[in-house]
Amino acid sequence: MMGRQNNKIAIVGGGPGGLTLARLLQLAGAQVEVYERDYNKDVRVQGATLDLHEESGLAALRAGGLLEESKRNFRPGADKIVIVNGQAKIFYSEHEEAVGDKNDFGSPYFRPEIDRGPLRNILLESLQPDTVIWDSQFMSMEKQDNGWLLHFRNGRRVYADLVIGADGANSKIRPYVTDIKPFYSGVTALEGNVYQSERTTPVIHQLLRGGKIFAFGNAQVLIVSSKGSGDLTFYVSWMSDEKWMLNNGLDYGDKTQILTWFQSEFRGWDNVWCELFEQAEVPFIPRPVYCMPLDQT
Ligand SMILES: Cc1cc2nc3c(=O)[nH]c(=O)nc-3n(C[C@H](O)[C@H](O)[C@H](O)COP(=O)(O)OP(=O)(O)OC[C@H]3O[C@@H](n4cnc5c(N)ncnc54)[C@H](O)[C@@H]3O)c2cc1C
Repeated sequence: MMGRQNNKIAIVGGGPGGLTLARLLQLAGAQVEVYERDYNKDVRVQGATLDLHEESGLAALRAGGLLEESKRNFRPGADKIVIVNGQAKIFYSEHEEAVGDKNDFGSPYFRPEIDRGPLRNILLESLQPDTVIWDSQFMSMEKQDNGWLLHFRNGRRVYADLVIGADGANSKIRPYVTDIKPFYSGVTALEGNVYQSERTTPVIHQLLRGGKIFAFGNAQVLIVSSKGSGDLTFYVSWMSDEKWMLNNGLDYGDKTQILTWFQSEFRGWDNVWCELFEQAEVPFIPRPVYCMPLDQT
């Protein structure tokens, strides 16, 4: 940052990446603002847990002076996996494994889990007031003076000397620096969220044991993740046409329709999974899965 202290930096996207970078830049004395598409901090249910690794997530929290605060929100046991088939028959359970030194900071195998919501709050609270400008969906930008003029969907225009794209997989900033595009993986997922799973989905809750379930069968997958709030998030995923999300005629706000679809698409899977669909909050969220080419630089 030497000699650039007065430069105005715009980070587009307030996910874990953008907020962490904003924190590190502010510690270095930079002038930085984060432009986030979400209407406000609470408008969207945050997904389940993220696992933090020594050389990346934990290193960033340490550098940001936020490790101690984060430790208060880590969820021991949330990384424990149960692997089952479509009939919920258990093939492998980490709950039965000895943990050893995997559970220590400094161990390369230690991957503490933190829920996205609390992580986001820690990062937001670490920033100077009004660093995040909500309801700012980036649309385009053009060169102006030594920097860029950014245009947002709400009509706002902002000048920045330096622009950083942290707007996720479908970044609108990426095309300004490279032609590399994400490509469809061939897999689509459908996400559901269930509140207070101990009460609402007791059978799955017991299998979950505060960790994660991975169910595999017929080249199809169901993943369930617990959350510290007592809620759970689940995803079913399967090989599908890229445009399935648009062309299937389903109403994502209709639980009965989605359950009927699941029973037909995941033929042969046990009825034990049905309570997830019956108890989920609507709407379900379709997520075609994209990846970046492995040979990109
Ligand atoms: C289904 C699923 C499960 C996952 N599970 C795990 C896991 O268990 N553990 C793990 O470590 N990782 C997991 N990941 C990966 C993890 O989610 C990503 O690595 C992480 O979210 C990337 O952070 P990010 O800040 O780069 O982007 P994102 O989290 O995608 O954040 C991007 C932000 O930019 C905003 N934005 C987007 N477009 C615009 C725009 N035009 N203008 C302004 N703002 C915009 C978005 O609203 C969002 O807040 C999972 C990912 C998915 C999809």
